[in-house]
Amino acid sequence: CGVFGILAPGEDVAKLTYFGLFALQHRGQESAGIAVLNGEKHTLHKEMGLVSQVFGEKLLEQLQGQLAVGHTRYSTTGSSRQVNAQPVVSRTRLGSVVLAHNGNLVNADQLREELLAREHTLLATTDSEEIVHAIGEAVDDGDDWISGTIRALKRCSGAFSLVIGVPGALLGTRDPNGVRPLVIGRLDGRYVLASETCALSIIGARYERDVEPGELVEITEAGLTSHRWATPDPKLCIFEMIYFARPDSRMNAESLYTYRERLGEILAAESPVEADIVIPIPDSGTPAAIGFARRLGIPFQQGLIKNHYVGRTFIQPTQSMREAGIKMKLNPLPDVIEGKRVVMVDDSIVRGTTSRKIVQALRDSGAAEVHMRISSPPVTHPCFYGIDTDSQDQLIAATKSVEEIARHIGVDSLAYLSIDGMLEATGTSGNNFCTACFTGNYPIAIPDRIRRTKLM
Ligand code: 5GP
Ligand code: SF4
Ligand code: MG
Repeated sequence: CGVFGILAPGEDVAKLTYFGLFALQHRGQESAGIAVLNGEKHTLHKEMGLVSQVFGEKLLEQLQGQLAVGHTRYSTTGSSRQVNAQPVVSRTRLGSVVLAHNGNLVNADQLREELLAREHTLLATTDSEEIVHAIGEAVDDGDDWISGTIRALKRCSGAFSLVIGVPGALLGTRDPNGVRPLVIGRLDGRYVLASETCALSIIGARYERDVEPGELVEITEAGLTSHRWATPDPKLCIFEMIYFARPDSRMNAESLYTYRERLGEILAAESPVEADIVIPIPDSGTPAAIGFARRLGIPFQQGLIKNHYVGRTFIQPTQSMREAGIKMKLNPLPDVIEGKRVVMVDDSIVRGTTSRKIVQALRDSGAAEVHMRISSPPVTHPCFYGIDTDSQDQLIAATKSVEEIARHIGVDSLAYLSIDGMLEATGTSGNNFCTACFTGNYPIAIPDRIRRTKLM
């Protein structure tokens, strides 16, 4: 999911949020929503669809307030329904609290039972709604906004980057592992919070710093106050860097474009191949393909043209929709491919469905050889922290060896980047990252009940 927030009394906060969400569209295409707070009262609009489909000028004009919180949803828990769209709201004795969540709680069932026992009506089925009700409960029990929020956060286990609006303040926080990103920006003396820096650039805001894992930032008209509510143990999702976040966003002080190019270079050094052209699977494979081609001195070409008006295929909820989506999405260029030994580079293989279809399309277009290089290690484990990688039995690398996968997708050769290569490219020891979908080392313990839903 994508989250965004701004506190700017007197400014058109909803419109700024609209543009922020527009830049975060890649993080979720199922639903979009914006909530504004005017004093103690909120106004909210959320609907299924893309940001540009959900909001128009008229609607945005009706969303007047001192602060706004926005969300683009990509369903990882709860079904893909209108009722699960965000931001979510709770009404308390101190006024409304609105909240946008990116991530996934692993103790949602338990929290839900506790909340229901206190007669909180949970209309929706998401963990995000539970968080906002936990805050509401603490505040109604007598806490102020900060102590109440911290009390609620301490009941949560899992991945959560949150942007929260309360009367007079915008709050931002990350779980103690900081699995999902959240950045702080400045715009003409105002503060902005966003999942990625690309949402700052689009509104002309300057990146200031990340919200730290286990930190709660409180932004008011007077400025920013930092509250440390848990001991930080940074484990940023490395898949954000490899694939999920936009290449023009910055993490760890460099653009992800640069990181991904380097993944391609290291991959080329590890698993070179003799070929005539290197082509990316656009757009996610492009930076790595550029790095790969440069390292081996093979021409980089576009052999597949992407229709950008089709959503990311994996975000659509059913397999049949997914397959239809793939066909609409990529078209091969026979003029580039015919008679050539082709290396195609992609960022990841998850289910193997996309790759298999593309290989067939390249062969149909007359490729002499088709080799595949993947700029991440094999995805062998499901994610429980907010990226929808299905259950383990759906992951092709969980049940098949690299040779078997090569045969399944129909390539002449296949190689993945090593785990060491992936970590080396970060320029750090690699201890600061969650790598669970490649290694099975889950930094946040997963209750058995949840484990059983996804692990073989
Ligand atoms: P596959 O061959 O596994 O069907 O699709 C791999 C391609 O789709 C890659 O280009 C990757 O960018 C994207 N992709 C497909 N599904 C997922 C998913 O569930 N999670 C992530 N992170 N990427 C996916
Ligand atoms: Fe990211 Fe994979 Fe960890 Fe999930 S399991 S948070 S996708 S690195
Ligand atoms: Mg892709």
